[in-house]
Amino acid sequence: MTKTNMITGNTGEWEVIIGLEVHAQLTTESKLFSGAPTAFGAEPNANVSFVDAGMPGMLPVINEKAIEQAVRTGLAINAQINKKSVFDRKNYFYPDLPQGYQISQFLDPIVGKGEVLLDMKDGVKKVGVTRIHIEQDAGKSLHEYNPKYTYIDLNRAGVALMEIVSEPDMRSADEAAAYLKKLRAIVRYIGACDGDMEKGNMRCDANVSVRKPGDPLGTRCEIKNVNSIRFLHKAIEFEAMRQVEILESGGVIHQETRLFDSDKGETRTMRSKEDAMDYRYFPDPDLLPLEFDQAYIDAIRATLPELPDQKKQRYMEKFGLSAYDAGVIVAEQEYAVYFEKLVTKAEPKLAVSWMTGELFGRLNKLGVDIENSPISAEKFAGLLALMSDNTISGKIAKDVLDLMFETGKDAAAIVEEKGMKQVTDTGAIEKVIDEVMAANPDKVAQYRGGKDKLFAFFIGQVMKASGGKANPAAVNELLKKKLNA
Ligand code: ADP
Ligand code: MG
Repeated sequence: MTKTNMITGNTGEWEVIIGLEVHAQLTTESKLFSGAPTAFGAEPNANVSFVDAGMPGMLPVINEKAIEQAVRTGLAINAQINKKSVFDRKNYFYPDLPQGYQISQFLDPIVGKGEVLLDMKDGVKKVGVTRIHIEQDAGKSLHEYNPKYTYIDLNRAGVALMEIVSEPDMRSADEAAAYLKKLRAIVRYIGACDGDMEKGNMRCDANVSVRKPGDPLGTRCEIKNVNSIRFLHKAIEFEAMRQVEILESGGVIHQETRLFDSDKGETRTMRSKEDAMDYRYFPDPDLLPLEFDQAYIDAIRATLPELPDQKKQRYMEKFGLSAYDAGVIVAEQEYAVYFEKLVTKAEPKLAVSWMTGELFGRLNKLGVDIENSPISAEKFAGLLALMSDNTISGKIAKDVLDLMFETGKDAAAIVEEKGMKQVTDTGAIEKVIDEVMAANPDKVAQYRGGKDKLFAFFIGQVMKASGGKANPAAVNELLKKKLNA
């Protein structure tokens, strides 16, 4: 653990402890226990069966696809798959829960202990996963139609979720954000969840506590339903500071459920924490336990694609990328697809730095993701090739890239048209150098008198006079020769 993760208060340093509970909607076409569709954006209450509406006498029928996706997720995080697991009723009263209970898993979840590896700047960090269980989602209460009433939309009621519970292993908001990103990448790679946080298809509860290094774990607060990685980061930073301030002024932390107000950037009390006892869990008498044999698990394992960590390893070995760079590229499957097209034509390290720096920067500004990049991998490789063979410098390449975004033209065509080719012709460069030296006789004298630092000034002047087109290595060499003559 690095020191930079600590919070410094009036009484010294505090360690932040974080455990996340992530809800991920499984990519099934129908719900967990009914045949109603899960399609997003339907008219309210269009996708509701009698089971979802909690009609008396209706029996749940398990969706095999959902089970398979949860097992795939368990295998993808190297977890124990439990050959026997049990569905329990979690009882509570709420208008959007027509059954009066949620079918979930309590004592015997489908997946046991696993792990997720985080690619942090200072190395790889391992975060334990305690368990994954399957459960139904609830419906939604709507207030926007008429403020006097609450309307209930049951389209989401009964949709299959998995809850992925981590160990309290994270020590900073950065690590928690990296964990959520990595988990999102994994479930997207294997197609178990689309990871769309804006639609609420992936959301997370953050448990946060603070302690003096070496002390036992402190009392935690749980921040509910954080729906973006940026908000998760903010919510944790705010919450940790709040707890430090309370403890340092002699107060105590009460275990409670809080919510994050993204407009104000703060967390607030929602309710005091309920215990497992309050839910009166018991095995659902309508459902048999799930039982798998090894062959079922092995067959699912055989369908797993290359996972982010494996891809990362391959990129490091095959392309000589650093662990960090490889981690950035594999973070999204679409980045990896683009990168692999790029390196069929371009040098891998140049490809990574230009892709993650210049390309991502411009896409970000446009608010476009890489699948919709106006510059295809093919075209981007064309730009990189012009740099590799010294036709243009890196500085000019940035201008060319801007023009590519503006015009949609190929790099080579733009360079040709605008006469942006790098000048490597020594005669032409020498001419510029002579002009610069003639215009600055005093500086030439100072340089020759021992003021070495002025060399950078001359380089700058020559590059400027050439419109940035002179080959920097050639300028360096010729300038030295002429100044030292
Ligand atoms: P509950 O059943 O009340 O939700 P769990 O023991 O299942 O409680 O823990 C829920 C989450 O809280 C887990 O992700 C766990 O890692 C995290 N957690 C437990 N203790 C702490 C703590 N002291 N500080 C921060 N997180 C914690
Ligand atoms: Mg919990």
